[in-house]
Amino acid sequence: MTAKIIDGKQVASEIRAELKEEVARLKEEGIIPGLGVILVGADPASQSYVKAKEKACAEAGIYSDDNHLDADVSQVELIALVEQMNNDPKIHGILVQLPLPKHIDESAVIGVIRPEKDVDGFTPVNVGNLVIGEECFMPCTPHGIVQLLARSNVEISGAHVVVVGRSNIVGKPIANMLLQKKEHANATVTICHTGTKDMASFTRQADILIVASGWPNTVTADMVKEGVVVIDVGVNRVEDSTRKRGYRLVGDVDFENVKEKASLITPVPGGVGPMTITMLMVNTVESAKRHHKI
Ligand code: NAP
Repeated sequence: MTAKIIDGKQVASEIRAELKEEVARLKEEGIIPGLGVILVGADPASQSYVKAKEKACAEAGIYSDDNHLDADVSQVELIALVEQMNNDPKIHGILVQLPLPKHIDESAVIGVIRPEKDVDGFTPVNVGNLVIGEECFMPCTPHGIVQLLARSNVEISGAHVVVVGRSNIVGKPIANMLLQKKEHANATVTICHTGTKDMASFTRQADILIVASGWPNTVTADMVKEGVVVIDVGVNRVEDSTRKRGYRLVGDVDFENVKEKASLITPVPGGVGPMTITMLMVNTVESAKRHHKI
């Protein structure tokens, strides 16, 4: 079996087109969804990520309040800016780009964001609501994974989902989301991590395998069963002298060999990646609708 590719770019552009229409409808009612963005310092990866977010907001018609602060900004000043956005009626979602410089306590800053504007889904209130199945903002990368599965008509209910990785931004939230007794969920979920003994014995049982380990080839073909659906979250740079920039991007899964056994698989790049920013915009529009009780 050679897997069909789940085209994240295509799914993301479908969702963005739907969102653009929704934003236009909201505008007719005088509502303009707004995202407040805070970038501290000049980390190139964060800069390009924030730039992409700003561009995506402009394309969708979402108002974006962009704040680029010097790396030596104090925690007090940063928190004051978050508070200002908390109280700004034009802003429905607040994004503080992580990582923050070392002298700043990330949890202290994230903790100040009002849960109803926490479109990244990182505040303890949102995380708690996600776990107990109440209304919340789902973190953007796992939210995107659910959309990829749902829009590829993958049956999640009753499936055995194996998640490799237990980070707070990917592994834990996706496991909790797919566990809920809800639509696009209701799976049996296993989580693997570096403390897992004989990980292959679990990954081989997966109907749906979600890999977010941060290392190339964490999952190889001998570790999966025929017909598995594979979602590769990883983004890793590996040296490649044939490329102008000297490297290429790969995921956490041995794509070339695993695709020969899988039924569906996400590529890297072009799988999960394009979904993350898209879901941030979806959450921002959702926040504006909740605020105006639509
Ligand atoms: P992370 O915080 O580094 O967490 C990695 C997790 O994987 C940890 O729980 C770790 O276990 C586990 N792990 C590492 N090596 C393993 C192994 N060999 N076997 C089993 N478990 C292993 O990473 P993250 O933030 O979740 O990100 C994971 C990957 O996804 C990265 O490549 C990142 O760049 C990518 N990512 C992509 C997007 C996107 O939008 N496309 C978004 C977020 C992340 P321990 O807990 O035991 O250490």
